[in-house]
Amino acid sequence: MNGTPTRTLQADVVIAGSGPGGATVARELSRRGKKVIVCEAGKYHKWFGYTLSMVNMLDRKGMTFSREGNWVVSGRTAGGGSVVYGGLAFRPPGWFKEKYDIDLKEEVDEFYEEVPIGPLPDSHIGPAARKIMEEARKMGLDWKPLDRLIRAEKCRPDCDQCMSGCKEGAKWTAREFLEDAVVSGAQLLLQTEVERVLTESGEAVGVRARGRDGWMNILADTVIVSAGGFGSPRILQRSGLYDAGHGFAVDFGRYVVGPARNHSPQTEVPAVAGVNFSEEGLILASAAPKAMMYAALLGLAGPRGWGRLQKVFQTGRTLGIMAITRDRVEGRINLDGSFSKPIDEDCQAKLNKGAVIAEQILQEAGVRREDLTALTVFAAHQVASVRIGELLDKDCQTPIKGCYCMDASVIPEDWGLPPVVTIVSLAKRLAKHLAASVEAKVAAQETA
Ligand SMILES: Cc1cc2nc3c(=O)[nH]c(=O)nc-3n(C[C@H](O)[C@H](O)[C@H](O)COP(=O)(O)OP(=O)(O)OC[C@H]3O[C@@H](n4cnc5c(N)ncnc54)[C@H](O)[C@@H]3O)c2cc1C
Repeated sequence: MNGTPTRTLQADVVIAGSGPGGATVARELSRRGKKVIVCEAGKYHKWFGYTLSMVNMLDRKGMTFSREGNWVVSGRTAGGGSVVYGGLAFRPPGWFKEKYDIDLKEEVDEFYEEVPIGPLPDSHIGPAARKIMEEARKMGLDWKPLDRLIRAEKCRPDCDQCMSGCKEGAKWTAREFLEDAVVSGAQLLLQTEVERVLTESGEAVGVRARGRDGWMNILADTVIVSAGGFGSPRILQRSGLYDAGHGFAVDFGRYVVGPARNHSPQTEVPAVAGVNFSEEGLILASAAPKAMMYAALLGLAGPRGWGRLQKVFQTGRTLGIMAITRDRVEGRINLDGSFSKPIDEDCQAKLNKGAVIAEQILQEAGVRREDLTALTVFAAHQVASVRIGELLDKDCQTPIKGCYCMDASVIPEDWGLPPVVTIVSLAKRLAKHLAASVEAKVAAQETA
């Protein structure tokens, strides 16, 4: 990217990216009276409720593959990945406090109070999820309703469109916080891509960005890089922090599916129940892919998958289980848009374990062994590309003074959990820290 800036804007805080991390900091700081500008590379998509809606809101329409050929998807729209996410909620692991002295309890509680987070009621557990839960429990698994960031009163039990934007407005997305920020005076610049952080004598003084009308400099004492697990390391690399993006983790996922003879076709809310083998980093949840995703995953499997494409027409009768597995921090995010992310042996073993358990449950639930298909592995939840304790200090400040990173990138190590509750809590913590340091600065100036 290159060009002469055509205009200059001024703010107290400029934020690159409007996913859960950026939107939360924007909301908390603008509510505290700061002049905030949020730059979001994506559009404010409003066409929700179809698989194509999801494709539209994914980075490069979902065509993002690692150099090793692994499919890794992320969001590119106002609100970031939260607009296409499944709305699964997991609390941050205890090691944040034990190993990094970061206590998120207050912020997690705050988020749970603001947003109705919890299991969906019985009325929203459809027949497929119920049957899978019954069989899993007979096998001795602790299979139970999972916490979701979904308002049950707005959620239709026969709708399976959580990841297509949720046109009912039942699922919490970061757009809610973004809209709160705008109501409190924040300025949202859409289709505006931050190139790099501007510095003077090692301190951040703003960002350089390209919007719909050309290049601009946005001057601010505080810069928050919140462009997500892929976007943030690239901005920081262009700003001279070359270690950003050296190593990162994702969560690999895989569906095991099959038509059940005794299951009548109907749609239902996915991922309402499951089991978390937290020590191992493996989560299983009842969920079957929608027809287009099913076709895409079969297509990616090559000739073996193509031979099964007719199964896509049985999706109404399909029972499915999704496995999510913890990956290791390795690979690399490159400036040219490419990245490397291999699947290591340990992760492969967990995916296999997940598939075997899923196959057992599904057979008990009425799927014939020969009808079972383990679909191609895919990945989301890119984390740990700008880690606390390495490139970032405990307050998420980069080596550039006044430049912070706040999104999934800051997670310090191997992960294996849906990360949104953790990101929002870390972002609330950062906003409190920034507000307190400004107050301390003002008090010091008054005393002086
Ligand atoms: C299909 C799918 C399902 C998921 N399900 C769940 C789930 O059930 N539960 C859960 O907790 N998590 C889930 N996730 C993960 C979750 O959505 C992400 O972890 C979360 O959104 C990351 O938040 P973030 O703050 O890192 O920013 P992101 O959500 O990654 O957003 C970053 C934003 O920055 C913008 N951006 C990028 N580069 C620039 C730039 N240079 N300048 C300006 N803007 C830029 C992007 O357009 C994007 O909007 C899912 C993700 C996907 C893709």
